[in-house]
This record gives sequence, C-alpha cells and structure tokens, in this order.
Amino acid sequence: MVDELVRKMLDILRGLDNELRSAGWFVDEPESSRWWGGAESPDEVVITAILVQQTRWEVVVDVLGRLRSLGLNKIERIAEMEPDRLAEVIRGVNYRFTKARRLVNLARSIVGIGGLERLKSMSNAREFLISIEGVGEETADSIMLFALNIPSLPISQYTRRVFGRVLGIDLGNNYGSWKEYLEKLLPRDLYVYKLVHASVVTIGKLYCLPKKPRCDKCPLRSICRYAGNTS
Ligand code: SF4
Repeated sequence: MVDELVRKMLDILRGLDNELRSAGWFVDEPESSRWWGGAESPDEVVITAILVQQTRWEVVVDVLGRLRSLGLNKIERIAEMEPDRLAEVIRGVNYRFTKARRLVNLARSIVGIGGLERLKSMSNAREFLISIEGVGEETADSIMLFALNIPSLPISQYTRRVFGRVLGIDLGNNYGSWKEYLEKLLPRDLYVYKLVHASVVTIGKLYCLPKKPRCDKCPLRSICRYAGNTS
C-alpha cells in the first residue's frame, strides 16, 4: 500500500516543473548540475551547498554572481584563497568568516585528493565529505546527489515533514532512519532522487508548514494521509 502511495506521489511530482522552477529548482537532464538552483557546474553546487547553510537562497544567488564575476566559482580557485579574502567576497551570507574558512578547507581537501571527478570515483566519497568540518550529512548528500550525480537522498526537515504526513509515518528525527527507509522505498534513480528532494523542499516551504499546512493548495492533497486520504 505504501509502495502504491509512493508511485502516485512520484506521478504528481513529475508534473511540478513550473512550480519547482519558480522556487529555484530546475528540472533538467538527470546528470545536469542545473537542478541545483541553475548551477552552471558541479563546483558551483559544492560552493553554494556550504553558503546556503542558515542563509536564504536569494542571498546565495547574489553571492554566486559575485563569485562568478571574479572567476571564483571554481573549487581550484577557492582552494588557493586566504579565508579572510573569501569572507570579504561572500559578504551577505550568515557566518561568512566560518563559512569562508570551511569552504577553503573543503576546497583544499577536494583538490588534495585530485578533484571532484576523483571524489566521485571513491567508494567512500560520502564518508570523506562528512569527515570535513562543516559538512553534515544533509550537505554531504546534497553534494553527492547534485554535484557528483550519485543517488544519495538528502534528508531535510521538509523531507521528514512531507513524507511523514503523506505516508502517515513518524520515524523521529534520526537522519539515518529516514534515509534508509526512503531509499528502500524509492527507485534508486538519479532523476527520481533529484525530483523528490527538490519537490519536498518546495512543498515543505510553500504548503506543508509545521503548524498550519495549506493542504487545500498542496499538489499532494489527493494522496496525503494527513489531509484525510485513506488510500
Ligand atoms: S496535503 Fe497538507 S499535510 Fe499533506 S503534504 Fe500537502 S500540505 Fe502537507
């Protein structure tokens, strides 16, 4: 029964291109980095995945524009920078000094192993990312999925809330429990994982609010158990 619900959910999510685009996600070829807010390269995904922590995406877009204009939207260039200089360039994002230091450290670590392509080929890429200061599980999975094109589902607060309500389940706050459960449920497919992450973040921000969800406007209302559907 849950399998059938997830199949219906994926059918609905496949029709959300315009809604996702308005929210800053770009449905594209499975391998494209553009899914991630129109990022022009895997490097830009990695850089903005750090910048967006505790910062609004609109601010990150401005900062990314500044990095592009200075030619600093590349891991190799970030790795060569002094953190204080980078902190100046990324002004506007929250915790910019900490993020600049962490971003330079992450970039140097990636360059140190031979770059993103080498990271992609490593069987322990996720563990490598998580071992770096400032890269938590959600950030690591976002980089895995949207920069390296490895199907690894990020679990955000929105993932827990939307899936929890649609499927009528509560797995608590444990990241690993949700990841294991959902990755077993979903087809292990790059496009599906990207679509699911982009969609739950968008629906979670626009409709599936913590206290007063706007179910009457939500695209998932016809299948959602929380909204009264019993199938
Ligand atoms: S129908 Fe309501 S509870 Fe269900 S996902 Fe949408 S907003 Fe959330």
